[in-house]
Amino acid sequence: MNCHETQRWLPGYLDGELDLVNAVAIEDHLKTCVRCAQAHTNHQALQVVIRGSRLYATAPSNLHQRIQTSLRQADTPARAPWTLRWRWYSLALALACVAVLAWGLGRAGVAPAADDRLAVEVLNSHVRSLMTDHLTDVVSSDHHTVKPWFAGKLDFSPAVDDLASQGYPLSGGRLDYLDGRPVAALVYQHQRHIINLFSWPAPQASDMPTTIEVRQGYNQFHWTQARMTYWAVSDLSADELQAFVQLVRNQSAPAPTQ
Ligand SMILES: [Zn+2]
Repeated sequence: MNCHETQRWLPGYLDGELDLVNAVAIEDHLKTCVRCAQAHTNHQALQVVIRGSRLYATAPSNLHQRIQTSLRQADTPARAPWTLRWRWYSLALALACVAVLAWGLGRAGVAPAADDRLAVEVLNSHVRSLMTDHLTDVVSSDHHTVKPWFAGKLDFSPAVDDLASQGYPLSGGRLDYLDGRPVAALVYQHQRHIINLFSWPAPQASDMPTTIEVRQGYNQFHWTQARMTYWAVSDLSADELQAFVQLVRNQSAPAPTQ
């Protein structure tokens, strides 16, 4: 995130309105940029002043009564000429249309497709694993150690492949929770980049080719193979992550044990 973006998103960040990925990106930027850190301090000070000031004004006690009275008068058929009534109905109809339209737009904006929601969930898990010192529950580069660790913790046995000789050493694994169920998260490295490989059973799903998505600067690869669903996420370049995904796909993925 650059200075321009950071300062643009600062108010949202301070109000806790940003998603995890952008919040972390801002925090990273603030650690290294004196100018934006100063802007952050200024915004915080401003926020304190605004919260402390008395901007709230109490309405006069008879205001409610006056509004009610004027509404009743406007709506009285005997007094309202036909054209006035017609205008009220037009206005009501227009407002209803706006409300329906806004509801539709709101739904389109805030209710992404299930796959999209899952993609966001997967990305958040990846980012959270990097920021909370909770990258691995079992730290080992040996797949003979990592694979048995999952036994008894999951209702399936994830494929744990040793890809060190191909440039993607295993760092370990941990339990994660995605799509409403516990899943396996395997952590691989490539140079200094971390790859989270999530997998869980998809008993009903047929094999699906890899889809690639770029989301907030991270590459996400998703596929279904041998009744398992996979997500690989990293800030690696798409080519390097693609190579990793190909290696994983080439290994035989065992079926769920249940
Ligand atoms: Zn900056």
